[in-house]
Amino acid sequence: MKSIWYKTNEDAKKKMFAFADEYKDFISKGKTEREAVDVSVALVEKAGFKNLASVEKLSPGDKVYAVNMNKDIVAFVIGKKHLTEGLNIVGAHIDSPRLDLKQNPLYEDHELALLDTHYYGGVKKYQWVATPMALHGVVCKTDGSKVNIVIGEEDSDPVVGISDLLIHLSSDQMKKTGATVVEGEDLNVLVGSIPDTSEEKDAVKKAVLDLLKDKYGIEERDFISAEIEVVPAGKARDYGLDRSLIMGYGHDDRVCAFTSLKAVMDVKDPERTTCAILVDKEEVGSVGATGMHSAFFANTIMELLDKSDRYCEMRLRRTLANSKMLSSDVAAGFDPNYPAVNELKNTAFMGYGLVLTKFTGRGGKGGASDANPEFIAEVRKALDDNEVQFQTAEIGKVDQGGGGTIAYICANYNMQVLDAGIAVQNMHAPWEVVSKADVYEAYLGYKAFLKDIK
Ligand code: MN
Ligand code: MN
Repeated sequence: MKSIWYKTNEDAKKKMFAFADEYKDFISKGKTEREAVDVSVALVEKAGFKNLASVEKLSPGDKVYAVNMNKDIVAFVIGKKHLTEGLNIVGAHIDSPRLDLKQNPLYEDHELALLDTHYYGGVKKYQWVATPMALHGVVCKTDGSKVNIVIGEEDSDPVVGISDLLIHLSSDQMKKTGATVVEGEDLNVLVGSIPDTSEEKDAVKKAVLDLLKDKYGIEERDFISAEIEVVPAGKARDYGLDRSLIMGYGHDDRVCAFTSLKAVMDVKDPERTTCAILVDKEEVGSVGATGMHSAFFANTIMELLDKSDRYCEMRLRRTLANSKMLSSDVAAGFDPNYPAVNELKNTAFMGYGLVLTKFTGRGGKGGASDANPEFIAEVRKALDDNEVQFQTAEIGKVDQGGGGTIAYICANYNMQVLDAGIAVQNMHAPWEVVSKADVYEAYLGYKAFLKDIK
């Protein structure tokens, strides 16, 4: 097998690059789960999808979406077949590793004002220092109002960041292992150094609070009910001299979220009802009201049944069990700098197309979602019939590590689920890399799946 670039003509390349531009815009604007939902709602509404809550009766061809707590979105196109025959689902997550502000974050130390954080998801902590960062999030006030915050993205904005120890004084630090070379409690964000000279104590902290009050109308106590995420500052960009790749924050898993959503938007008049679900909290175990374990998904399917003709528990369970799903999450892309972690016959390569991963898990497939070969054969056929290039892979050599996705949670509904995503380099680093060829091929693959799976 060769990379997609070998068979790409100028026309196809133009399409790929235009699609990549749209995607770059999507991740540059959607850097948190909330922002990703907002950008997704704008996309689907522009394509004629209606909020499910505003629709009374559903008929084939109808396009609807539902949002859960501003952090999940699910979009459907109602098919010609009855819902109980099952849906074709593509599911991705829209949370990404980052640093979250603590509830009581702001403090002063030797006339510098800092924000204390707790990292979110699996990160190599040493990667998140000495690099420009932005603050994204919401502050919810007791009067019911909400303040949106984005600082560090405009050219005229300041950025913030976390210091690293100078090499000149690092002889002790350099002897530590990678896991402890930068410690979690040392991920403190520098936000100010000018004092409010009328204050005796914590004058710099006071000045930062004054600034927050002036610009955003928030008080120190409002941090208690805030969610502010510290993320890499700046837009996604073309990567490589030939512009064949994209460097951006949060490809895992917004690259599969975008391609999944676009696929549902672009498959017209499907036989089976199509669905894209984009969820929060995958990076911390899919827990809580906005993770895949939440009742939100099943509740929304109940609403669909109710609005199509009638709902009952048995019909809900039939609908879920007859559904088929691609868990669209990223795969580890081969990195020539670190070839030793892979077994090359079962490795995802950049530019080789959609990655099918039969099983996830670690150490003897522990915690794996393991797709049935009957179902993989169906997916293969849909991809082959639509001339979509795919590759197969697992996450690294046996006993080297591993990972998981939302696949096993959906499989608990008794539906067929296969992991299918896009190869990423630098996964979970502040700046990750994907191939434009893979982004476009995944979109084509998801479309083929939604359209053709019976
Ligand atoms: Mn992921
Ligand atoms: Mn991840």
